[in-house]
Amino acid sequence: MKEQVVAIRCRTYEEEEVRGAVEKVFTLAGVDRCAYDKILFKPNMLSARLPGEGVTTHPSVLREAVLYFGAKEKLIGDSPANSLKPLQVYWEKCGYLDVSGRTGAKLVKFGDSFFVETSCKNGIVKVPVTSLLKDFTLVNVAKLKTHGLTVLTGAVKNLYGLIPGYQKSMLHSRFVSPLDFSGFISEYYESVRKYVSFNLVDCVISMEGSGPSSGKLKETGYIIGGRNGLAVERACCRLLGVSEKNVPYLRETEKKYGLPDFEIIGDGIRPVSNFSVPGQRIYGLMSNPLVKPWLNLAGRFFRIEPVIMPSRCRECHACIQVCPVNAISRNLEFDRKNCISCLCCFEVCPYKAIEVKKSFMARIFT
Ligand code: SF4
Ligand code: SF4
Repeated sequence: MKEQVVAIRCRTYEEEEVRGAVEKVFTLAGVDRCAYDKILFKPNMLSARLPGEGVTTHPSVLREAVLYFGAKEKLIGDSPANSLKPLQVYWEKCGYLDVSGRTGAKLVKFGDSFFVETSCKNGIVKVPVTSLLKDFTLVNVAKLKTHGLTVLTGAVKNLYGLIPGYQKSMLHSRFVSPLDFSGFISEYYESVRKYVSFNLVDCVISMEGSGPSSGKLKETGYIIGGRNGLAVERACCRLLGVSEKNVPYLRETEKKYGLPDFEIIGDGIRPVSNFSVPGQRIYGLMSNPLVKPWLNLAGRFFRIEPVIMPSRCRECHACIQVCPVNAISRNLEFDRKNCISCLCCFEVCPYKAIEVKKSFMARIFT
């Protein structure tokens, strides 16, 4: 049976327009307002950035999702990797404090956790996720963006935020290469998908280029939702004109479990043109058995490194705190031998003061 994905046009974050679109998504997907008693809404709160910067789930989309449901208890929670700043700062900057005030939903910190078992190529990994999943059903309210390591982030990658704080960074040191990390994301999704009741993706304005935090914004004009996160992700790929074969976590899932067949209902999807998604060429080439050995040979010339732009740096030390292998010193110098190119520092820098330097070979393929 085909999974249904609802795609509704939404060109702005105006309250009325977003409300109409979000309500249509839930209604067409057959989700009743009283479907759940206790809901945890999980936005993408990557960084303490303003809604207009397009780094986080827009508060209008989150607000309307929360307002749709008549649940007895509603929580809003996410766990950013950089825990130097108090969560209050994130909530305020991202506009979620206002969402909480207008909806009555309580903002929560992910404190206690339990382990889900995720099978990886080296065996089973016990991954901590918020204990709230035991009592609350999850409504995943994601943001569509490019991502330096995983090519895209939408419904599937947003669930990585269920892992409390710094432990997310530590997993990067365990799954060092972008392909290993994407393989982990694919398996991790399989181990947490049962906790998710619905996936809603803010694709009104999406980030292209150097996502997930330093790219350019482009109008993509939709709110997309469905019960199956992988089907929703496939629909997002169609919107951006990206081949699923070039999104490594989708390709890994397809190889092992197959991707769900899906149909779009609602307004249909009109793909945006020339959406810039760096990195997808290399993953597409890696799937070609004729090219792969040459890429392995060329791998030693394939380097991606973070570089600090001193003129923009405000010495907040978020990068130092998030680095899983302590490769950034107190005076903000990189230890190139230890750096695993996870780009966590690039992701969390609130001032776009870290850029990604690529070797000649990396520039050709990404
Ligand atoms: S590079 Fe960015 S995250 Fe690191 S100290 Fe400077 S401003 Fe902060
Ligand atoms: S310096 Fe940046 S890219 Fe290198 S390991 Fe640390 S966080 Fe990752």
